[in-house]
Amino acid sequence: MPSPYDFHIHTTHLKCANETMTVPALVERCESLGLEAIAITDHLDAPQFMPKHDLIEADLAQIDSPLRIYFGVEVNVIDADTGAVSIDEEQLAYGGFDPVIGGPHSSYHTTRDRESIIDLQHRLMLAVLANPLVEVLVHPWWFGGGEFAPGGPMEWFTSMEQIPDWHTRELADAALKHKKAIEANYSAIFGAPQYSESFRESYAAYLAEIARRGVRISVGSDAHDINSLDGVHPMMEVLEGVGITREQLWTPEV
Ligand SMILES: [Zn+2]
Ligand SMILES: [Zn+2]
Repeated sequence: MPSPYDFHIHTTHLKCANETMTVPALVERCESLGLEAIAITDHLDAPQFMPKHDLIEADLAQIDSPLRIYFGVEVNVIDADTGAVSIDEEQLAYGGFDPVIGGPHSSYHTTRDRESIIDLQHRLMLAVLANPLVEVLVHPWWFGGGEFAPGGPMEWFTSMEQIPDWHTRELADAALKHKKAIEANYSAIFGAPQYSESFRESYAAYLAEIARRGVRISVGSDAHDINSLDGVHPMMEVLEGVGITREQLWTPEV
């Protein structure tokens, strides 16, 4: 079954996605991909980027589409001690974002210390799930390609089997307790060169275990280029391959 949703999309306004990702062009592509609902979730890593989000909202106001389109935002963990994220209540009220998705975007380590990295990443993800402003934990256990370089902090990370099972159970329990979703992200994990085919297999099993425990899964392309938007369909194929059904997917109404 093709994916009905894409709840993680960037635009050209924040300059992280490229010039192909204008709001009208990406909406048109999502229509042609047969999607039912999407969320535009560009980065808000600091308050000074808020005016760029006003541009996205203005673009959306001009668009007439059969899609359900949500004006959301992606936030980052900005304090590795507390797990605080890059949005507060006032900024959320001003921006009017719905949904807010977010998570850590770094190992917050410069050296390879496997136990310490796993422990910190896990605690930060729990903090994001407990944050009342954030609805979806994005791309758990994603790290940038540079962190996998020889001698880098994540060089050792080749399989989700390296993450203790109790972490996965605790994460799923926290998501259930706080009624949050966990993301299946195509570009960051399944389309990213730092993750091998065997890693992706272990990651699909990880998502299956989270879903089996009752957590809703949010499908996102995390597209930064117009040609990456179609990643939600192979993402859905992966999910179906490990037994995750459409009924287990998250939407902003749930
Ligand atoms: Zn991200
Ligand atoms: Zn993203």
